Amino acid sequence: MNRVLKIISVILFILLLSVVSYGSEISVQLSGSIEKIESYVDGRLTYFSLSDLASILGEHISWEQVGLSAKYVSDEYTMTFFMDSPYIKINDSIKNLIYPAQFEKGNLFLPIKTFLPIFDLIHPDRVTWDQDRKLIRIDSEFYNVTDLAFAPKANGLLIELFVNEPKEYEIYITEGNWLNISILGGKVNRRQVLSRMDRKYLRDINVVQFEQSAQVSVRMRQNIIKYTDRFQSNPGRVQISLIDPSVSVVSDRNHVDIGPDNSINKIIIDAGHGGSDYGAIGLNGSHEKKVVLDIAQRLAKLIRKDKIFEVVMTRDKDKAVSLEQRTKIANESNGDLFVSIHSNASLNKSARGFQIFYLAPAWNDEARASAQLENASFLAEISSGGDNDENDLTFILSDMIQTEFQVESADLAAIIDKEFRKKLKNKTKARGLDQAGFYVLNGVYMPSILVESAFLTNKADEKLLNKKSFRQDLAEAIYEGIKRFKAKYESQ
Ligand SMILES: [Zn+2]
Repeated sequence: MNRVLKIISVILFILLLSVVSYGSEISVQLSGSIEKIESYVDGRLTYFSLSDLASILGEHISWEQVGLSAKYVSDEYTMTFFMDSPYIKINDSIKNLIYPAQFEKGNLFLPIKTFLPIFDLIHPDRVTWDQDRKLIRIDSEFYNVTDLAFAPKANGLLIELFVNEPKEYEIYITEGNWLNISILGGKVNRRQVLSRMDRKYLRDINVVQFEQSAQVSVRMRQNIIKYTDRFQSNPGRVQISLIDPSVSVVSDRNHVDIGPDNSINKIIIDAGHGGSDYGAIGLNGSHEKKVVLDIAQRLAKLIRKDKIFEVVMTRDKDKAVSLEQRTKIANESNGDLFVSIHSNASLNKSARGFQIFYLAPAWNDEARASAQLENASFLAEISSGGDNDENDLTFILSDMIQTEFQVESADLAAIIDKEFRKKLKNKTKARGLDQAGFYVLNGVYMPSILVESAFLTNKADEKLLNKKSFRQDLAEAIYEGIKRFKAKYESQ
């Protein structure tokens, strides 16, 4: 090869090399579009123009002290930079970029590798640096673990970690009252979660993004003695109930007025079970869900005929209704009384009779057995992570609203029991009043009772329950009780 050509090609090669090393053009990717921003390499460090990035983000930088410092103000944070200083001020704390901020012709340049991780922590969107593509990615759809919330309940604290879609998760308690929630495949919005630090409940909070998972850890003020957890949808969230066993569900509160005007106008009738939940099954194959729907419909018909009350039914056909839906229907329709209708079952085939329950921790084994039976279908809904062998109210966090009405609920139960005795005593056994922890009564914001009409597992009782006249008697007895209750409370 010609000597001159050789020299030229060497020069060209060197030129090409220098183009590669200095041509480190940087782009910003924001919601699909890519824009170039100014940058340069100083030594081995790449600097980029924060001024350019700010304008892409729709924000801007103001210069102070005649170009000696610059301020970047957004809705979420304020950053102050000082000429030729590696220190920056973010809100009220000082961070070290290790390399100095550089001001060039009204442009603020920062070392990309040390600034972006800091920026990512404070910026609401995910900010990452793609070294290979020389790309700053700003990704608002990136996170699936988005927020954290606390809601105090009377018997504990409800913690909710919002996760966009159902994900595998793990909860573990570590020394020092740390509650750790690990979300497999989680991408956590660290800034948002950290902003939920609440000194009322927490001593500390920590968020770590691992490659395969995200971990949110909260150090609780209260001792973690017992908890349950489950995944809830719409919006997706992991709910953790920290239960305080020292709080009794029974409150010794004084009388609370019923409704704003003390009047009783709307009756919620809750037919137990339904759909794939058959409830108790009789000796001769009767289904509780069917029997109780018929009683509920008879009761509704009676009430509607008189026009003294309005009626809302949690179900009026054979369909499954969740615990949440039942309480939601009751509360959102502003019911004044809640009557849940069931029929009982027992391994002891001689057990028979009617029984009226109101909500409170079970006093005795029999009441506990009834509650366990009725709660079983709801237990399937709630996947528990804590120990759930106890069938008491502490299993789920209560808004404790029920206890406000405990006096009235007990009274309603007593009045209806009286009517049952009048009408049914010659037909089956009166088992009396009792209290137990029925979940369905737990979240209902009104006086409420649960009627166990008779035993499907008793031959004579099942026969009765299959009689129209007996179901009509049950409906009438409940209705009489409701009217008496109204008369009593409205005259007070
Ligand atoms: Zn039932």
